[in-house]
This record gives sequence, C-alpha cells and structure tokens, in this order.
Amino acid sequence: MKIFHNIQSFQEERKQLIPGQKLGLVPTMGALHAGHASLVKRAVAENDVTAVSIFVNPTQFGPTEDLSNYPRTLEQDCALLESLGVDWVFAPMAKEIYPDESQLIFSLKDIDKKLCGRTRPGHFNGVVQVVSILFHIIRPDRAYFGLKDYQQFQIIRQMVKELHFQVELVPCPIVRETDGLALSSRNVYLSAAERKQALFLNHTLTAIKQKLEDFQTASDVKDFVHHTLAQYPLAKLDYFEILNDKNLAEVDSLTPSDFPRAFIAAFVGTTRLIDNMALY
Ligand code: AMP
Repeated sequence: MKIFHNIQSFQEERKQLIPGQKLGLVPTMGALHAGHASLVKRAVAENDVTAVSIFVNPTQFGPTEDLSNYPRTLEQDCALLESLGVDWVFAPMAKEIYPDESQLIFSLKDIDKKLCGRTRPGHFNGVVQVVSILFHIIRPDRAYFGLKDYQQFQIIRQMVKELHFQVELVPCPIVRETDGLALSSRNVYLSAAERKQALFLNHTLTAIKQKLEDFQTASDVKDFVHHTLAQYPLAKLDYFEILNDKNLAEVDSLTPSDFPRAFIAAFVGTTRLIDNMALY
C-alpha cells in the first residue's frame, strides 16, 4: 500500500493504471471504524485498484464545531487499510488542497435548506467543495459513500449528475454497534453515561418503525419523539424529520408510496450524532 501526501505524487502513480482498470475511491476523514471498513471492503471487491482519502476537511466545519479536536489516527488507519487490501491512501495536508483562501462558494437550491444544512450552515458547501476536488484529483470510476450521511449522499448524487462527473456512486448501508448505535468517528467523544444515552437516536427510529401504524401523520411522530426524549436527559434534539427518501421532500402521508424515511440529529452531551432509517 502506498501513502501519498501530495497531489503530484498521487497523480504520477495514477498514471500507472492500465486502460480499462477500474479505480474505486472511499473518501473519509479518518479515525476509521467498521463503518468505513465496510465501504472499503466493497471497493476492494469491486475494483482493480482502491484508493482511500483521509482528509479532515476544514471547510465543512462551522466556527464552533470540532475541527481542532476531530480524532486523527493516521498510523492506525493505514494499518487497517493495508489489512483490507487498499492500494493507495491519499492523505494531504489542508494547504495542499486549499493553498489559498477559496473564492468559490457552492450554492445549493433546496436540498441543503433542511436537516443538517439548516443547523450546520455552510457544511454542505464544504462537502461539495472537497468531494469535487477529490474527484478531480483522484478521478475514480466508482466512489463509495455511507447512508448514515443520507443527505450528503443525495447532495453528492445531484452534484455528480448536474456537473457530469464520470463516476458511479455506490451507496452503502449503515453499520451499527450490536446495540444499534450507528458507528461514528465522533462516538469516541462520548463518556460512559453519554454512550448509553446515545441510544436515544436508534431506539427512537426503531420504535417509530415498529409502531408506524399507530401514527397518522409526521406531526404525531414528532410528538412521540419529544415524549421519548424525556427519558434521555443527556440528549438534546437538534432535529427530527420524516422526508421522502427519493428527493428529501416533505411527505403527505406515512404510506409506502411517499417513501418515508426518518432523520434524527441530537447532541448527547456536547457530541452531535445523526442517524436515519427507512420506515418501510
Ligand atoms: P467520515 O469519515 O465520517 O466523513 O465518513 C466517511 C464515509 O464513511 C462517509 O461516506 C460516511 O457516510 C461513511 N460512514 C461513516 N459512518 C458509517 C457507518 N456507521 N456506516 C456506514 N457508513 C459510514
């Protein structure tokens, strides 16, 4: 496995690809866990060459967010990636990706006005910026993204479609701990008490799905979520929404024809966690 810290050396290596060979990319911010590993395994199985990028992208963090504290475990990450059969790791410094202050701002129409876009202004500008830069540098045939970041996947899919990127996007299912907590690099911030209460997210989603016929409207479900929250004093709800799976539009009903998916974000202590679940 080769590790690259700059664009030029990566691109020299990329030239060695034989025409027809497929290159798979898994973009990450490092602090890798079994969720990332599931994407990597799939990329290794489906491509001739697999690249993983590790880059804690500063432009997707808000001024009060955890950029400086974000876990960085490059050595450990590389050991894991090597054991999974990855060929190339692209781990640039921020100066390599952003040598000057950026003059481009990506403006999205509706898709970032809800869910994480509402409570993290500017976040998806940073995501679109970094993913487009990584796609230009790495030029993968396929790129693998987790559905834990469901809105992110929808936005990247729109970006690829509208900007005619020649890349196939591969959505991958959410990987969870055995008790249901979605794996996240941010879970390491949780104290033991917070770790227990972090189950608020998954327990709420699972309960809604199980008793879906008890609810008439998305608003009834919101009442249930607020009621459940009372049992988790360390959790503070950031948002809960039920939206159409296909286009993140409001749903008129909770019937399968509206493809309802529940989205939740909550602070547990000071750690912000997200999760989502299709209701059918
Ligand atoms: P991150 O390092 O958090 O930017 O995540 C890199 C990629 O891994 C993204 O496509 C995430 O959606 C995906 N990912 C993170 N956590 C999980 C998980 N628990 N299950 C599946 N994919 C995940």
